[in-house]
Amino acid sequence: MTARILVVDDIIANVKLLEARLNAEYFDVITATNGADAIELARVHLPDIILLDVMMPGMDGFEVCRRTKADARTMHIPIIMVTALDQVADRVKGLEAGADDFLTKPVSDVALITRINSLVRLKMLTDELRVRAETSRELGLEPASFDADAGGRRGRVLLVDDRRSTYERLQSMLMATHDVKVVTNPQEALFVAADGDFELVMVSLALTNFDALRLCSQIRSLDRTRLLPVLLIIDHDETAKLLRALELGVNDYLVRPLDRQETMARVRTQVRRKRYTDFLRNNVQHTLEMAATDGLTGLYNRRYLMSHLSGFVDQSAERARPMAVLIVDIDFFKRINDTYGHDAGDEVLREFSQRMRANIRGMDLVARFGGEEFVVVMPDTDLGLAQGIAERLRQTVAGQPFSVSGGASAVDVTISVGIATFDRGDDTPDTMLKRADTALYRAKRDGRNRVVYDAA
Ligand code: GH3
Ligand code: MG
Ligand code: MG
Repeated sequence: MTARILVVDDIIANVKLLEARLNAEYFDVITATNGADAIELARVHLPDIILLDVMMPGMDGFEVCRRTKADARTMHIPIIMVTALDQVADRVKGLEAGADDFLTKPVSDVALITRINSLVRLKMLTDELRVRAETSRELGLEPASFDADAGGRRGRVLLVDDRRSTYERLQSMLMATHDVKVVTNPQEALFVAADGDFELVMVSLALTNFDALRLCSQIRSLDRTRLLPVLLIIDHDETAKLLRALELGVNDYLVRPLDRQETMARVRTQVRRKRYTDFLRNNVQHTLEMAATDGLTGLYNRRYLMSHLSGFVDQSAERARPMAVLIVDIDFFKRINDTYGHDAGDEVLREFSQRMRANIRGMDLVARFGGEEFVVVMPDTDLGLAQGIAERLRQTVAGQPFSVSGGASAVDVTISVGIATFDRGDDTPDTMLKRADTALYRAKRDGRNRVVYDAA
């Protein structure tokens, strides 16, 4: 995994040192030695990560962080603050300024590469999701906004630790800000994680008679827990195991003895990230649904139908299976609108859609093609079967008046149906829809409330 990293430090020697270490890991490095340059370079080069020194003459790191996070062009770039070891208050201040993570000088190689990799991985995911959210905004589908401040509080945290002294201490640290559930039996941890609605799992590496890394790897591979962040708690002399854990996809780690501020910050960051990626993911999911379905009836829309119909046609051709297409149009629908009002017309469309859904099979695709016109695609369906289904549909509509609110209680509705079947090797979605439409036209001409088939 490679990424472009902007290194900012007023001391040239520090810049050179970090640059060399990052180059050795094949990162692409750009550098700045003061705040103003840093902000400018971030705008121009849009790095994947900014490594930002706190203590700089003129504009300090906090201010650079604040300004970068306030600019819509650069606000999504993760910032790692580099603070002095004895300046605990700086870390808190950095996180308040919007920093995503921090490193303490002197920076260890493991910490440096871990934190960068973890942020790069996260950024790639969120970049992808952001692009899709942006696309939906361009389509006029406004995504909800994310409250980043509230995003890291009252996290649902699962703590896996079998030593009473350590879990009690950690629990008391976190309790005021988060909901913590402790599991002392590691054998149960995976089940608890999979069953619960957690946002973070903290795992002690020092479990008695149990390999904590196995648990981490199981959490990563199980579908239900795959996206759950894992924060590992290690003793300071466990570097080899830590490296293994990071390879397994552990998101971050804490070293004992636990520093209160650092613990709070890392937990909050993980919870916030989890919520942010969930938010983006839900947004994309919602957008996909919005883009594929019709708002009034909940059926697939025309765009979805057209992008899937050719797949159905191709399959029929390849597997030499029959296939049918119905175009269903409500008769004299304009009259329903004119007599009972547009809202009543909408109710009829909704009720009609429900009846359609109830009368077609799971493998069929029903779409609202336009106004009061619908298309049903039926794979593995020959003419006889298609006629049977279409006739049943017609009776379901004509046999039972539709109830609408306001005034008239029951409205008589009928439909006309045109059928086309796939029976020529060179059939395309267009030729099939055209034949179904010709059949529909004949059904209308011959008196409506009927099913007509148009042979190729
Ligand atoms: P025909 O039997 O020949 O199909 O006659 P018709 O009146 O059903 O057909 P026409 O195409 O003349 O009119 C369709 C009407 O459907 C016109 C339009 O105002 C109405 N319509 C289209 N979309 C909607 C909708 O979402 N809600 C409502 N209430 N009416 C709609
Ligand atoms: Mg009509
Ligand atoms: Mg029409």
